[in-house]
Amino acid sequence: MRALLRALALFAVPIALLAAGFALVFTSAALPPSLAGLKIYGPYIVFALGAALAIGFNRGRALIALLVLALAYGLQQAWLQHGLGDHPARAVYAALTVFVPLNLGALALLPERGAFTRQGALRLAAVGLQAALTAWAAAAAGQSEIVDWVYQRFLEPTPFSAGRIPQLGLAAISLGVLAAMAATFSTRSATSAALAGAILAFAIAAHVPNAAVTFSIFTAMAELMVTVAVLQDTFRMAFRDELTGLPSRRALNERLAALPRTYTVAMVDVDHFKKFNDTYGHDLGDQVLKLVAAHIDRVGGGGRAYRYGGEEFTILFPGKEADEAIPYLEALREEIEAYRIALRGADRPRKAKGAKRQRGGWRGRDAASVTISIGVAQRNDRLATPLAVIEAADRALYRAKDQGRNRVAR
Ligand code: GH3
Ligand code: MG
Ligand code: MG
Repeated sequence: MRALLRALALFAVPIALLAAGFALVFTSAALPPSLAGLKIYGPYIVFALGAALAIGFNRGRALIALLVLALAYGLQQAWLQHGLGDHPARAVYAALTVFVPLNLGALALLPERGAFTRQGALRLAAVGLQAALTAWAAAAAGQSEIVDWVYQRFLEPTPFSAGRIPQLGLAAISLGVLAAMAATFSTRSATSAALAGAILAFAIAAHVPNAAVTFSIFTAMAELMVTVAVLQDTFRMAFRDELTGLPSRRALNERLAALPRTYTVAMVDVDHFKKFNDTYGHDLGDQVLKLVAAHIDRVGGGGRAYRYGGEEFTILFPGKEADEAIPYLEALREEIEAYRIALRGADRPRKAKGAKRQRGGWRGRDAASVTISIGVAQRNDRLATPLAVIEAADRALYRAKDQGRNRVAR
C-alpha cells in the first residue's frame, strides 16, 4: 500500500504542471509586452536549463526527451503556425503526433545509459533519423504518392473525433502514456512519470497546433516535468537504496540527527546469509533481501526501516521505549521465519514435483526460508547519542546471534 502511494506520488509534479499550463494559457494575455518573448522562447529556455542539468547528472533519457520536445517545438514554429492548410504542414503535424509520443514512451521503458555514451549516441541517431524523415515527408507531401497514400490511409483525423490529431497519433499517444505509466510503477522512476505527463502535455499542445501560445506553454511544461524529474531521481539515488527501495544509510544519518528525547533503535541482521548465497547464488540472495526488506518496511508500532548496509537493516522507533517496540519486532521476526520463499533459480524447474502452493509463499521441495536476529537499545542517560544507542543495539544483536539466532535481544 505504501509502495503504491509512493508510485502514485511520482505523478504529483506532472499533474501540477499540467494544471499550471492551463492556468498560464488563460492568463498569458495579461503578460506585459516586455515579457512577450517568453511566449516564443520559453520552451527553448526550459530546454537549455533541463539539458544542462541532464548533462551535469549524466541522465541520457531526460536529455533525449528534452531534445525531442524542443525539436517538436521548432518544427511547430517553422511549419504549423498558419494551420494545417497545406500538404507540408499536414505531413509535419502527422509525423509529430506519431513520433513524439512513441519516442517519449520508449524512453520511459528504456534503461538509463548515460548522456554521452555509445548507447546514448545510438538513441540520438534514432531521433535524428525521425527528424530527417519528417523533413523529407514535408518536402515530398503533395508530390510523393507514398506520403499521400500513408497520410490518407493512416493519418487522416477520424471523422467522428472533435480534434485534428490523426488516428495513428491518438494510438501513439495512448500507447506512450500507458507504457510510461507501467514503467513508473515497475521502476519507480520520476523520469518515467514525467514522460507520461509530457506525452499528455504534448497531446494538449498538438490539439491546437496553430495556437502558438498554448503550444509553447504546454511544450515548456512538458520540458519542466522532465527537468524536475531529473532532480527527483537524483535525490532518490542519494537517499534510497536501489535494491530494496528502503531509505539508505544517508537518510538514516539525517534522521538520527533529529530524533526526539525518547526513541528505540533495532539492528536487524539476516542469519547465515553467507551460506544462503553460497547455496542458492547471489541473485536469489538479492531477491530474498528484497522480500525481507519489504517485510521489515511493514513493521508496526511506528517503526521506520532503513538499509544499514549489506544484509543489515536499522529500524527506528521515534518516541517509543524498547518495551513498546519489542512486541512489533517479535511479530516481524516470526513473520519472516514463517515466510516460504519460492526458489525459481535458472537451473531449477519452474514447478518441482511435490511443491504445493501455500498462502504467502511456497512449501515443499522448492521453498527456502530465512530468519533474522534483532538487537534492541533505547536512548537513556548512559546512551545519550544516536551513535551510542546504535552501538548498544549492535552489541545486543551479537548476543542474539550468540544465543542461537532467530531471536530478539536487548
Ligand atoms: P550471521 O549473520 O548469522 O552471523 O551470518 P552471516 O553469514 O549472515 O554473516 P555475515 O555478516 O558475515 O555475512 C553477510 C553476508 O551477506 C556476506 C554476503 O555474502 C551477504 N550479503 C551482503 N550484502 C548482500 C547483498 O546485497 N546481496 C547478497 N546477495 N548478499 C549480500
Ligand atoms: Mg551481517
Ligand atoms: Mg548475517
